[in-house]
Amino acid sequence: MKDYSNHIAVIGAGISGLTLGVILKSCNIPCVIFEKYDSVSEYGAGISISPNGLEVLKSLNIYDDLLKISSKPVSSIFYSNLKKITEIPNEVITSSRKSLYKVLYEKYLSFDGEILFDHNLVSIDFSMNSLYFSNKKNYRFKHIAACDGIKSSCQNLSSAKIKGPVYSGYSVWRSILPTNQKNIIFHLGANFHIVTYPIGMNQSSFVAAIKTKTELNESWRQKGDYDDLRSELPSSIIDEFPSLKQSNQIYKWGVFTRPLPNALFDKNITFLGDAAHPIVPFLGQGACLALEDAYAFGNLITKYNNDFKKAQIEYQNIRLNRIKLIHRKSTNQAKLNHLKNPILVYLRNVLMRFTGIISMRTNAIWSYKISKKL
Ligand SMILES: Cc1cc2nc3c(=O)[nH]c(=O)nc-3n(C[C@H](O)[C@H](O)[C@H](O)COP(=O)(O)OP(=O)(O)OC[C@H]3O[C@@H](n4cnc5c(N)ncnc54)[C@H](O)[C@@H]3O)c2cc1C
Repeated sequence: MKDYSNHIAVIGAGISGLTLGVILKSCNIPCVIFEKYDSVSEYGAGISISPNGLEVLKSLNIYDDLLKISSKPVSSIFYSNLKKITEIPNEVITSSRKSLYKVLYEKYLSFDGEILFDHNLVSIDFSMNSLYFSNKKNYRFKHIAACDGIKSSCQNLSSAKIKGPVYSGYSVWRSILPTNQKNIIFHLGANFHIVTYPIGMNQSSFVAAIKTKTELNESWRQKGDYDDLRSELPSSIIDEFPSLKQSNQIYKWGVFTRPLPNALFDKNITFLGDAAHPIVPFLGQGACLALEDAYAFGNLITKYNNDFKKAQIEYQNIRLNRIKLIHRKSTNQAKLNHLKNPILVYLRNVLMRFTGIISMRTNAIWSYKISKKL
């Protein structure tokens, strides 16, 4: 068995794990990534990366590579009950998860990064600094970077375990559709919102969030049915997407909440991305936070010359308030999108049309630069 006892073991080859891997390898810090599946995951889902996340991609020199296979929509256009409210210039890159993983993975490999697939973490012995995987292999490690996503095994195996999950009251439908859409389109309505955007290569991401008591599984792989989708949303909007009817790639899942953790580390394990702070997806910030986390922790390890205790404490100090803010705003965003009361809908729409409130709200999140915090 290879000796990794002087390595950082990165658990999970997702957005935070691959980003951290690139940063560590570029600083010549020994690391290895363990991924439970047999390849880098390719869920066919869209993803939007706002300027705070793009800053990290630029620092890794992969922004241009991602842009080539993604989309930079011209505007974001908002409709309320099918009436246009406002249109604002767009600042985000819209892409697919597959494309983001691809550029991160290729960059990691370009540094001779090592990744062990089919390695599903099942146990950690902190006293022996040993990791155990379901394929019966085990390895020593120096430090663990827990990047294993929303259902983190690392969280469950540590004493920092996050409580939950609790059904949020929202379920989400998603699909990837063939289109030549140029803009990001938001449809807001009573108890639902729909977001569609181009993701490059003549495809669009379709996501519809619905407030409902019917609790679905928290699974990205659960297939949904077109007729069910159409019955839960206004048919006048759904019929604007005729390719949905032909699609055999419609998925649905239940959105679950978990309380925010008080700590981002436990002994010699540090949590990043969804493993550290699962949030609801209504502000499109989960991936961006994962990028910021990886940038912060990777660079702090270098700054403190592998003194993990110092790196962990500063990482937590820098990240906790930021995470709390996004956690709160993400939860509130669904409520704003789904307003039902006609007076509140009218007020929201007037504010959106005449006050620049959308830009103010997004700027408060997007203007954050993780590089300035270190
Ligand atoms: C529908 C939807 C839309 C979204 N849209 C956006 C958006 O537009 N913008 C945005 O910023 N965010 C978005 N997000 C959130 C974003 O996708 C996540 O927050 C982000 O992927 C988190 O990155 P991560 O590295 O923490 O986890 P992930 O990217 O999920 O990676 C976790 C990795 O760990 C692996 N793993 C899990 N368990 C183990 C184990 N036991 N052993 C080894 N490996 C393991 C997994 O296989 C996976 O490869 C969206 C989320 C959803 C659900």
